[in-house]
Amino acid sequence: MSLAILSALAEEQQGIFEQLQQPRRVLHAGREFGMGIWHGQTVVLALSRIGKVAAATTATALIEKFGVQRIVFTGVAGGVGEGVQVGDVVVASGFVQHDMDAAPLFPTFEVPLYGRARFDCDSALTAMLLEAARAGVSSAGGLFSLHQRAPQVHCGLVASGDRFVSAATEAQRLQAALRAGGFDALAVEMEGAAVAQVCHDYGIPFAVVRTISDRADDTAHVDFPTFVSTVASRYAQAILTEFVQRLG
Ligand code: SAH
Repeated sequence: MSLAILSALAEEQQGIFEQLQQPRRVLHAGREFGMGIWHGQTVVLALSRIGKVAAATTATALIEKFGVQRIVFTGVAGGVGEGVQVGDVVVASGFVQHDMDAAPLFPTFEVPLYGRARFDCDSALTAMLLEAARAGVSSAGGLFSLHQRAPQVHCGLVASGDRFVSAATEAQRLQAALRAGGFDALAVEMEGAAVAQVCHDYGIPFAVVRTISDRADDTAHVDFPTFVSTVASRYAQAILTEFVQRLG
């Protein structure tokens, strides 16, 4: 069973390609895919670039062209949930698109003709990823003590949309609108819900881990690039190494 490791940006999975056995790079649909064996598993590494459409195209290519049977997304996100700090890790239980609104024809956030707003991650794969995140964070945690406390691992809903949320007022507005619809998000990012919808369509198990690069507030534009260039790939490597070894 081949596993796809998908990220938006190169920094979010940097270093993994160099560890592959029998590595091979393929250019397809304007994207780079890396193939090989990692800790005994057949893996396909993919970079989607940013946003829901780019992520959906990449997920579809992974399934249709590369025949992957499960997808794990690794990346960064803005923390919006209470106590979700820069340097923490969020494993997604499911996704909602915060910029989907076909009201009054459909309830706000509902994806038209799907009869749902929320797309859940695969529970078995997510449980394994959560375990791997806890182990990865504790083995790598000492490196990244950005706060007084050790990095924490959270599990819950993540909201995706085609917007870099970079103002506290915007994050609060978004959080309030989601709560009014019955959704309580831990983090915001720009790809997960699209991949979740594609995986739902194809019946492909899917799980997501996001390290928190910023608080989606007025300093997000400063925190994000610093975090992405210094910490993101080390987190991804530590967590995914634990994950791939648990796959069996
Ligand atoms: N100008 C930036 C664009 C970053 S977009 C650049 O230099 O590349 C942010 C990326 O990280 C997206 O892939 C998204 O999934 C994630 N992300 C991190 N923090 C986010 C936030 N506050 N809001 C939305 N997406 C965020």
